[in-house]
Amino acid sequence: MGIKPTMPHITMIVVTCLSVVALSLFVQNSSAGLRKAGQKKPLANPIRNWTGIVIHHSGSNYDNLEKIDAYHRSKGWDMCGYHFVIERNGIVKEGRPLNKTGAHAKTGKSYSRNKTHIGICLCGTDNFSAEQIKALYNSCKRLAQNFPIASIERHHEECPGPGVNIELLREKILGR
Ligand SMILES: [Zn+2]
Repeated sequence: MGIKPTMPHITMIVVTCLSVVALSLFVQNSSAGLRKAGQKKPLANPIRNWTGIVIHHSGSNYDNLEKIDAYHRSKGWDMCGYHFVIERNGIVKEGRPLNKTGAHAKTGKSYSRNKTHIGICLCGTDNFSAEQIKALYNSCKRLAQNFPIASIERHHEECPGPGVNIELLREKILGR
């Protein structure tokens, strides 16, 4: 779909309403997109073959998707840089569609992971809620069932802050 000013806004409203099931709906759409890509009319923006997930925290001033989205737009970006935002109550909201390159992991490594890694952001800085950790686990599990995810990584040493055990998450989802 042509992604310019109005579409992301509409997408956000819809997703906000359906926030509880946002991830499952979207992943279902993603699979449909992959099937369609092989047919006569290829999608203009086929779903990417994501190979990794990068986990972030938002910082204490950004406790919901709307605030993060507003902040990222204020920097001149199209929309929220993360693909998913997990709010304090464990609700998973779609930040940007999975057919778009993220804007979340340019730093932290000597190379950018924006084109290869799905960005998930936990609202808060540390001491994430049990609901958030559970939602993070479920989100990663579902994404790994739908994409060839080979790595689940922190953004950098301080992001996300203490409270999320990436090693355990990786072991549970990827078995290593
Ligand atoms: Zn980060």
